[in-house]
Amino acid sequence: NVYKADNTRYEKMKYNRVGRSGLKFPAVSLGLWHNFGSRDNYDNMKQMLRTAFDMGITQFDLANNYGPVYGSAETNFGTIMEADFRPYRDELIITTKAGYDMWDGPYGDGGSRKYLMASIDQSLKRMKLDYVDIFYHHRMDRETPLEETMQALADIVRSGKALYAGVSNYDKEYTEKAAAMLRELHCPFVINQRRYSIFDRTIEEDGVKEFCREAGVGVIAFSPLAQGMLTDKYLGGIPKDSRIGRDPRFLRAEALTEKRLDQIARLNELAAKRGQTLAQMALSWVLRDGDVCSVLIGASRPSQILETRTVFEHTCFSEEEIRKIDEISRE
Ligand code: NDP
Repeated sequence: NVYKADNTRYEKMKYNRVGRSGLKFPAVSLGLWHNFGSRDNYDNMKQMLRTAFDMGITQFDLANNYGPVYGSAETNFGTIMEADFRPYRDELIITTKAGYDMWDGPYGDGGSRKYLMASIDQSLKRMKLDYVDIFYHHRMDRETPLEETMQALADIVRSGKALYAGVSNYDKEYTEKAAAMLRELHCPFVINQRRYSIFDRTIEEDGVKEFCREAGVGVIAFSPLAQGMLTDKYLGGIPKDSRIGRDPRFLRAEALTEKRLDQIARLNELAAKRGQTLAQMALSWVLRDGDVCSVLIGASRPSQILETRTVFEHTCFSEEEIRKIDEISRE
């Protein structure tokens, strides 16, 4: 069946400016880290991408090594891109990254020019694209001179293989240096992608949130649901079809300590009082002060994406609610 996007999609989403750039991100973006690999269900992937775009989610986030196997999320995305989204290419922000382990030997990891240049070409091929909208360096690499990595990003943008440059998991010092170097190289640097949720406040503590606000660099928050812990799904045990139940590479049962489960239960009650599910409250919370331009969620089924529909409309929290969330999550 031929896909035709919902005509009302842009009325359903809010679009936030990315730092002080000309670009806007949907308040909710979809990441393909889990559930788009070679062992996952193709029809489900397709349905998730359609559901997202029909809601106005215009941004799909990938990386070279999303899978498993490495590369397979990009390959699957490329197939769906070709089948469903080709007519909508100019309405989409498609992003990918390089920086973590990708292929054997010294050139498939880190921040060298050698790695980044080869990786962007591989990613474009897998996704059947001429360009990505944002190409990210995926993590800080203290062994490679930052100048080299930034020059590679700038050259990739200049070659037309990416429209904007981004960094991910960069701390304040590295973000500041990267911004200065890319400015000098006249390269449009727009975003730092960092983990941020009620359970992970690192960007508040390491100064990145504040620095990016002041410097006009956008922040997009990944794992805003703490990989599913900020939902009610683990309150009654570990479902077989959950991330912990099915694919505990990055989230293991050990994370669900008694203390954690108690925090989740109390946050769940607080969300209910606000008329939200815990997942919805967790996303509204990340968007509460306007410093983060998009929450980058993952999903294992379309209904989870649909659940985020209204989160940008409920970003007002009373002082009392903020205090309670802090109190519960910092215990
Ligand atoms: P989340 O914190 O949003 O966790 C997503 C997972 O939570 C889903 O796969 C699902 O898992 C569960 N979930 C989501 N919604 C609901 C719901 N409504 N009710 C119950 N469970 C729900 O984000 P991720 O950790 O998946 O990361 C999101 C994206 O961020 C990635 O795809 C990637 O693009 C990016 N990312 C970037 C990183 C970086 O280094 N730059 C690192 C990590 C992520 P399930 O149903 O299987 O339990």
